[in-house]
Amino acid sequence: MRRCLKCSAKSVVYLPQHRLALCKEHYLEWYLKRVEDTIKEFRMFDRTNRVLVAVSGGKDSLSLWDALLSLGYKMDGLYINLGIGHYSELSRKVCEEFAKSKKAVLHTVELEKDMASIPSLKEMEKRPVCSLCGQIKRYYLNRYARELGYEVIATGHNLDDETATLFSNTLSWQLEYLKRQYPVLSEGNGFVRKVKPLFKMSEKENALYAFLRGINFVEEECPFAEGASSVEYKRLLSQIEEKSPGTKLRFYTEFIRRVHPILKQEGGVPIGACSVCGEPTTSDVCSVCRLKARLSLGSSSSSPSS
Ligand SMILES: [Zn+2]
Ligand SMILES: [Zn+2]
Repeated sequence: MRRCLKCSAKSVVYLPQHRLALCKEHYLEWYLKRVEDTIKEFRMFDRTNRVLVAVSGGKDSLSLWDALLSLGYKMDGLYINLGIGHYSELSRKVCEEFAKSKKAVLHTVELEKDMASIPSLKEMEKRPVCSLCGQIKRYYLNRYARELGYEVIATGHNLDDETATLFSNTLSWQLEYLKRQYPVLSEGNGFVRKVKPLFKMSEKENALYAFLRGINFVEEECPFAEGASSVEYKRLLSQIEEKSPGTKLRFYTEFIRRVHPILKQEGGVPIGACSVCGEPTTSDVCSVCRLKARLSLGSSSSSPSS
C-alpha cells in the first residue's frame, strides 16, 4: 500500500505520470490547484468574467463545473439536448440535478426545436455523425454564449480528448486544424473566447475527482460514438501511455510549446458573418444554416408532387 506523499495517510490513487500517491483530501487539493494553475498559466479568465461551461452530463464537464465553482469562479452551465433518446434524457436529468444542488443557473438548448435531433440529421447526412454533432455543438455554444452575454466558454476537453485529436490531425497533417488546437481560442470576429481548463487532466483523473466529490454523472458513452476513429486513437495512445507514463502530457504540451507558435505565424482564413444568422463563418452562409436549408428542402421534397 502506497502512502500519501503529503501526509503519509493511506493513498487512494497513484499517478504514474507524476510519480505521485495521494490520499482523498490531498488528491482533491492537487486537482483543484492544477486546474487553477492551468487557468492562470494560459490567462483563460478571472473571477470577474462571466463564464459559461458546456455540460454534457459526463464526468469531465461536471467535474469542470464543480471544480470552477469550488475555486470561486462565476459559472453558469449550458446543456444542448441533442435528442439522442434515453442517453440525452438521462444526461439532461443529471445536469439539471447538479445545477440544482449547486444553486447554479443551467441554460438548455433543444436542438430538435431549433432544427432537428442528431438521429434525424444522421439519416440525412453522409459524413461521420461525431463531426456533424461537434460542429453543431460549437455553433450553438457560441451563439448562445454571445446572445446571453457571456465572455468565455469553458469546455471539459481532457488530455485524452486533446491528444487523440492532435494525433489524428498530425497523421493527416491538417495544418488548419492544428493551428486551432490550443487551450485558449481568442474572442473576435463574432467568436466568444473558448478555453479548456482540463486539458492537462486525464480521463481517469476527472473520473476520480467526480467519484471522490460524489458527483452523479452519466457513465454510458454516446451510442453514436462507437466505432469513431477518436475512440481507436484513444485506445492506442493509452497503450503507449501504459508503457511509458507521461507520453500523452508530453505529446500535447510540447506541441503547444514548440510547434503551435510556428503554425500561428501563418495568417488564418478570413472570417465573416453568416448572411442568414450572423454567426462567424468562412463562407457566405454558415454550415449550420446550410444544413437547415437542406432540412427544409428534404421535408418539401418528401411531400407528394404532381
Ligand atoms: Zn494526504
Ligand atoms: Zn448561419
